[in-house]
Amino acid sequence: MIQRIDTNLQTSWQKELAMAVSDPENLLKILSIDSTYYGEKDFKARKLFPMKVPLPFIQKMELGNPNDPLLLQVMPSVSEYLEHAQFSKDPLLEQNNQQPGVLHKYKSRVLLMLRGGCAVNCRYCFRRHFPYQDNHLNKRALEQAVDYIAADNQINEVILSGGDPLMAGDDTISWLMDKLEALPQIKRMRIHTRLPVVIPNRITSELCQRFKSSSLQVVMVTHINHGNEIDSYLANKFAELKQAGVTLLNQSVLLKNVNDDANVLCELSEALFSAGIIPYYLHLLDKVEGASHFDIDESQARELIKTLLLELPGFLVPKLVREIGGERSKTPIDLRLND
Ligand SMILES: *Cc1c(COP(=O)(O)O)cnc(C)c1O
Ligand code: SF4
Repeated sequence: MIQRIDTNLQTSWQKELAMAVSDPENLLKILSIDSTYYGEKDFKARKLFPMKVPLPFIQKMELGNPNDPLLLQVMPSVSEYLEHAQFSKDPLLEQNNQQPGVLHKYKSRVLLMLRGGCAVNCRYCFRRHFPYQDNHLNKRALEQAVDYIAADNQINEVILSGGDPLMAGDDTISWLMDKLEALPQIKRMRIHTRLPVVIPNRITSELCQRFKSSSLQVVMVTHINHGNEIDSYLANKFAELKQAGVTLLNQSVLLKNVNDDANVLCELSEALFSAGIIPYYLHLLDKVEGASHFDIDESQARELIKTLLLELPGFLVPKLVREIGGERSKTPIDLRLND
């Protein structure tokens, strides 16, 4: 049996957020991993992007396993110092947007960067160099963002993103929903979040109640990369969301040594569906400086999806996409099935 640490699951999400582990050596100690597997140079990489891992996520890692697929997503690594011509600080050309905190790249939907930070820092994050301080939406900026949305009747969906939008409290989210509900052209509110995966208690009953009472269709797009990220405690939280009428979708990032394997991806899809979530996107890595060691090339990704198509029902095969700065939608990858 795989051994994991125990955590108290009854504490509040704010407390769990405050208790996130930020010292790599401490993380290894908690996991009983011999620190010789990692070195000073790895630990130092947290200066490039701080380490941040909440305990409920650590609890899903295997004790003693230095290559645990969840650990690899959050553990600083000397490889982050590698420079690579194609990997830049702003791969999606997002850092000169017009309206602060608003990304309006696609016609019918607009993305609000509700909160800058996240509960977890994923080493492969394409926003690891993003100037969040300049993009945090305070209430005034949020009001201006709502005015911006109100003025464009082509927008029918508002996406809350970040950082992680669930870093905002239930009050703020409820306040924003009041505003959006008052706009006749807005049908849907979508929340892109990884927070429930790392702190399941973020799904509060107040939040579920608010979603349930909304006139908007609420969609939550979770970010889960490996089946081990889902346990029964989290699955129960997703069940509460579903009971509140929330549609659950998932996006993953294809990551070397984490989920670049057909079996792992099949198990992920199965675990998602068991928790009431439909796989939506599988993203090719955005080429951000410091993450080149996670990159999987397009031809390998195509082969993985071809295998999934043989193994899984169509609705459990995520769409393989790449985001290209300046394009008007995500770019689907041609699988070249006839080659
Ligand atoms: C990914 C993204 C969206 C959502 O795209 P979908 O294909 O509808 O999931 C919207 N706005 C921005 C800026 C995005 O990056
Ligand atoms: S949760 Fe998402 S935005 Fe936050 S660090 Fe991870 S990948 Fe980046």
